[in-house]
Amino acid sequence: MPIDPVCWMHVERNSEYTAEYNGQKYYFCSLKCKKKIEKAPQKYLGVKSPMKMPE
Ligand SMILES: [Zn+2]
Repeated sequence: MPIDPVCWMHVERNSEYTAEYNGQKYYFCSLKCKKKIEKAPQKYLGVKSPMKMPE
């Protein structure tokens, strides 16, 4: 199941909110998240380990 790179929610593969960056397809839970990434894709996609693990 794809993950929304903005809010880290699981997204249905048939989501209507998708975008492509660097040949990679991304899925979004909502238009709100898609708009966010359109404004600053590197903010969400340029980070190597965006998911912080609790220590
Ligand atoms: Zn989202």
